[in-house]
Amino acid sequence: MTEQELRAVTGTIFNIQHYCIHDGPGIRTNVFVKGCPLRCLWCANPESQAAYPQLMFQADKCVGCESCVRACPHKAAVLGEDGRVHTDRSKCEGCGECVSVCKLKGREIMGRRVTVGEVFDEVQEDVLFYGSDGGVTITGGEALAHPRFSAALLQLCRMHGIRTAVETCGFVKWEIMKDVLQYCDLVLYDEKHMDSAEHRRCTGQGNELILENLQRINDELSCDIWVRVPTIPGYNDSIENITAVGKFVSEKITRCTEVHLLPFHKLGESKAEQLEWESNGFSSEVPSAEHMEARREIIRSFGLICK
Ligand code: SF4
Ligand code: SF4
Repeated sequence: MTEQELRAVTGTIFNIQHYCIHDGPGIRTNVFVKGCPLRCLWCANPESQAAYPQLMFQADKCVGCESCVRACPHKAAVLGEDGRVHTDRSKCEGCGECVSVCKLKGREIMGRRVTVGEVFDEVQEDVLFYGSDGGVTITGGEALAHPRFSAALLQLCRMHGIRTAVETCGFVKWEIMKDVLQYCDLVLYDEKHMDSAEHRRCTGQGNELILENLQRINDELSCDIWVRVPTIPGYNDSIENITAVGKFVSEKITRCTEVHLLPFHKLGESKAEQLEWESNGFSSEVPSAEHMEARREIIRSFGLICK
């Protein structure tokens, strides 16, 4: 594809973050793609799961003026008996007509359709900060949820000498994964549970495809590999599971240079409320630094670098 054709490819993103230091080496610009095939009980970015723009609503700001009710062309916004507006999510189209009329700024649309060219122009403003290590990381949601968009953005970055990384949950057909990752220097690969039944309980899907894809990246592609485990007390932080991760990576994923255990945090909770989600029954605690370090030591006992 020509540069002009790459710039015209579209996708849906929900954020671009600048000067990031945790999602790949050096200083990076993170592009957050909207859409994810997994439904992790602890999801830190619930606004990323659906692949389309969605309404976020801060109930504590609402004074019940009904401006949004009058503005909504789909009759999705309705004043409740508690004096606040509720959104019938089955009717809401995410059109955003209600956003500007809310003077309390309680309504926001999360997600926008963009061209690769628009995103790349914003990325290019950060080039001076990348140095020899930094670059672009496409994450999400799931970076491969809009594969043509991600592949085109990575390709364009490479054409301009910008280093590229992709964070993926791995639950993607191999043909799609291979087509996108051929343009990336580093993959940040999430592994949530080594036991498939537990993986299904925690994320909605088994782990067979995820482990198989990781193996194929190792064997068939040339990008560097970091394995990342979101570490959720009571769900996947058992000694058995962390040991199984260390054993699998050390024996099979021979090109993995770092394993990262990412401690659970609660930042997703308020966003789930803004999406007006009902509780999924999930409950966990933020692990202590000592607990995380003890789990990292297990990974290190397999001769791996673990952060
Ligand atoms: S416009 Fe804003 S403050 Fe008024 S009812 Fe709607 S959400 Fe509440
Ligand atoms: S985003 Fe559109 S459909 Fe949804 S509540 Fe607002 S105006 Fe209605």
